[in-house]
Amino acid sequence: MPDRTCIVCRTKGSTNIFFRMVISPVGDVVSELGRKLPGRGAHCCFNMKCISKLGSSNCLEVALKRGNFRFDTGELVQNVMMLLRQNLEGMLVASKRKGRLTYGKEAVFKKIRLSKMGKPFVSKDISPRSLMNLKHVSKEFYTLPFTMYELGELLSRKPVGVLFIDEPLFVNSICLRLMQGHAISNV
Ligand SMILES: [Zn+2]
Repeated sequence: MPDRTCIVCRTKGSTNIFFRMVISPVGDVVSELGRKLPGRGAHCCFNMKCISKLGSSNCLEVALKRGNFRFDTGELVQNVMMLLRQNLEGMLVASKRKGRLTYGKEAVFKKIRLSKMGKPFVSKDISPRSLMNLKHVSKEFYTLPFTMYELGELLSRKPVGVLFIDEPLFVNSICLRLMQGHAISNV
């Protein structure tokens, strides 16, 4: 895994702890997770400390070796949040496709008792009663930035309040994206 560096704080790490920015053909700064967009790119951490300095310092100009581009911090934040959300959706769908995602309260509670590797996740609008039931069987769970209805749509079934993923790689990647989303929005 090649090391990347945040152009603001100079933190080094693997690709998935940064987002990447390039200048589009029409001169806008566009962002992505991973590394697909062509051209010279610049990486930045998923936190407002670094993001807010992108617009107020010249580090983007220096890293991208160009001056005349359009950059808006608010737009960038919105875009990065959308990318994180799409990435989460992709991982949930992939977990389901691989048969590593369980839904339905009964099935999830059974999994919690039997699986040592997986973790439960809940919709952001889970009912207080379901949440209380879940807390009886599991101390650890994570809240997804989706409503029950949105999760149902995504997994093509009825609304989903609680689900379980028993593949550690998916669990870790989803938790990383959730943390990154919090680091941007909770400021
Ligand atoms: Zn940084």
